[in-house]
Amino acid sequence: MEDHIATRSDLRGDCARCFGLCCVALPFAVSADFASDKAAGTPCPNLQGDHRCGIHAKLRPKGFAGCTVYDCFGAGQQVSQVTFAGQDWRTAPREQARRMFEVFPVVRQLHELLRHLTEALTLPAAGPIHPDLRRALARTEDLTHGTPAELGALDVGAHRQEVDDLLLRASELVRAGVRGKKKERRGADLMGARLKGADLSRANLRGACLIAADLTGADLRGADLIGADLRDADLTDADLTGAFFLTQPQVNAARGSAGARLPESVVRPVHWTAGL
Ligand code: SF4
Repeated sequence: MEDHIATRSDLRGDCARCFGLCCVALPFAVSADFASDKAAGTPCPNLQGDHRCGIHAKLRPKGFAGCTVYDCFGAGQQVSQVTFAGQDWRTAPREQARRMFEVFPVVRQLHELLRHLTEALTLPAAGPIHPDLRRALARTEDLTHGTPAELGALDVGAHRQEVDDLLLRASELVRAGVRGKKKERRGADLMGARLKGADLSRANLRGACLIAADLTGADLRGADLIGADLRDADLTDADLTGAFFLTQPQVNAARGSAGARLPESVVRPVHWTAGL
């Protein structure tokens, strides 16, 4: 029996076991997503001494919507509790803290790959490559347990490419037999596209730019959405049942409704129904 994304709590951020790494390690710039600039390795002014966000309940009205769509895929607690054995960056020597901030985005990428590999192993049609997927999963798990020096030296891009090739093969097996230009949208520029009610079932939307696209009532059942940019896309009443390689940050970045159907691997964002 393969693990399911929903049961892999280690692949979801657990802020209570992290030292607010995403709020320090990552940079952001003034934009629709962030109300101010912040350099990488600098604590956000809103980060409190207890590693909690001082404006957590008001992130969107305060102009920090970008924080509400972020998920570290469990990299925060892994780096905090395993890689650095519970060492808080606030009390660590400066060089060690720098290492934590350097390693965090590397582990985040590895955890995102773990998430996709775990999901691929639950796709029955990808059965012929399950042994390859299991090997890639084990190798990626091993990498996440590297020392700070090993993780700092890791060519994560090269590993990512290897895993991406495998995930593409899984997708092709799942979507076998799907034909037509309208279903082949890999990397397509669909920014602001009017796709209301469109039939995109089992479509290849890998890496497609769907920023602010109107996908209300669209049929996205069984679509491959890996890396698709869904910021501000309107998924009101869309059907994403069985859509795969769709992550929580992607869904969080979109708009939607109580009527939208989502795959089991993600949860309905609070802001879809709370009017935030
Ligand atoms: S606003 Fe809050 S959640 Fe966003 S980076 Fe700052 S402390 Fe973290």
